[in-house]
Amino acid sequence: MTDLILFWHRRDLRTVDNVGLDAARQRNPKVVGVFCLDPNILQRDDVAPARVAYMLGSLQELQESYAQAGSQLLILQGDPLDKIPALAQTLNAQAVYLNRDVEPYGRQRDRSMKEALRQVGIEIQGFWDQLMHAPQQVMTGAGQPYTVYTPFWRNWRSQPKAKPVAGLQNAEGLSESEKTAATQVGLMPLPSLSELGFSWEAELPIDPGTTAAQARLEEFCDRAIESYDEQRNFPATDGTSRMSAALKFGAIGIRTVWAATEMVYDNSRSDETRKNVQTWQQELAWREFYQHAMFFFPELAEGPYRSQFQQFPWVNREDQFQAWCEGRTGYPIVDAAMRQMNTIGWMHNRCRMIVASFLTKDLIVDWRWGEKYFMQKLVDGDLSANNGGWQWSASSGMDPKPLRIFNPASQAQKFDPDAEYIREWLPELRHLDTEDLISGKISSSDRSACGYPEPIVDHKHQQNLFKALYAERQKAKGG
Ligand SMILES: Cc1cc2nc3c(=O)[nH]c(=O)nc-3n(C[C@H](O)[C@H](O)[C@H](O)COP(=O)(O)OP(=O)(O)OC[C@H]3O[C@@H](n4cnc5c(N)ncnc54)[C@H](O)[C@@H]3O)c2cc1C
Repeated sequence: MTDLILFWHRRDLRTVDNVGLDAARQRNPKVVGVFCLDPNILQRDDVAPARVAYMLGSLQELQESYAQAGSQLLILQGDPLDKIPALAQTLNAQAVYLNRDVEPYGRQRDRSMKEALRQVGIEIQGFWDQLMHAPQQVMTGAGQPYTVYTPFWRNWRSQPKAKPVAGLQNAEGLSESEKTAATQVGLMPLPSLSELGFSWEAELPIDPGTTAAQARLEEFCDRAIESYDEQRNFPATDGTSRMSAALKFGAIGIRTVWAATEMVYDNSRSDETRKNVQTWQQELAWREFYQHAMFFFPELAEGPYRSQFQQFPWVNREDQFQAWCEGRTGYPIVDAAMRQMNTIGWMHNRCRMIVASFLTKDLIVDWRWGEKYFMQKLVDGDLSANNGGWQWSASSGMDPKPLRIFNPASQAQKFDPDAEYIREWLPELRHLDTEDLISGKISSSDRSACGYPEPIVDHKHQQNLFKALYAERQKAKGG
């Protein structure tokens, strides 16, 4: 057997613009991919079937890309700390290459992997790939991590950006005898969704894989990016990219995405267009801001950033939480949004903010309940972005504005003025007046005729209650 490099894929399911894989290929043409179906992740109680469906679809295309490049993507199932070193040893690998992650589980796993491989004398190399800038690259003047977005963005924006790296080509795969040897470690064909114990029937907001992600990027850059700043807040409009699952799983490289936006920016003829493009670039920077935050403050994954929220007296009524989950709160914009997520595994960003504010400020339920429910449903569910979004909405996170309470009716008025979104997701209310749908002032007789519930709480009352509870906590903290 000859030396080879094993490239361990995790959230970088592509062979194009992949920093670690490119480095592996430059060192040795014999580079073989491996993906390990990890029960520590797949058997958690917050795994969304839509997300697994997206992942499996992307893995299928990844296998094809390896085959086209002359190599293979191997599939294993089990604890990576057992499986990867065993495979690497069996194949006499000179090194295992991987792209680094920011999440606490991934970082701990990779530290343990380093030790496990060291013990069997196999080299490990890690790279930063999923971010334009690695965490240590964007620090305050005092060398500290940023805890406020705007200065982070200014610094992040001003730094030179890397170009996409080459795709895998002319690689060499396993020989027949190596394949036979690898079988002993438990190589398996890519399982189906049902074989993994999940089911998902609905169409996903974006097809899995690199081809679909690249097509979506092109389409978005040709069209919607130029009006993103105006259109991104209207959930009935197709004004955002819907690329979040592709970015979460790395079906597309972030450098490729950035380069496409820069091209539109540079070719723009008006300041207006440039402003729209830059607003979208700012979203990419939010993604990085939250990933850096998770890297430097891993405790965010467990609880609130701000101490006022450490022992917050959440009301936590199970029945109200259930009504929220199922889209039965009696507030049309909230229920429409929850039904969108329950049906297609994706929710528009404006609506994520509305329902998160409603859960935390109107129902006074601990934001971690909502965070977990989102993870159980979202195709793009991602610890850093989801935690960041929830802590922002709960006012417990890194945000200079302490209290932000959304009024569902004013949100609907502004962002769904014709109640198109509400009608799409609450078909039982389609025939009602737009004004009633937006304000939520639907008569009891209309509600009962449509089988639609009465509001489970009064917004004004709950807003005051939340403020009072918050003021008490501030006092207790001496602030
Ligand atoms: C409570 C809450 C929970 C959220 N949970 C997630 C999550 O689990 N996974 C996730 O990817 N995003 C999450 N977001 C952020 C945002 O809602 C989604 O990224 C966005 O709706 C995805 O749609 P899009 O791809 O069309 O976004 P676009 O508007 O086209 O934005 C482009 C990309 O930028 C990134 N992005 C945009 N907004 C944000 C943001 N606020 N924070 C971090 N990244 C952002 C995403 O990768 C997105 O695909 C959450 C937001 C809130 C308020």
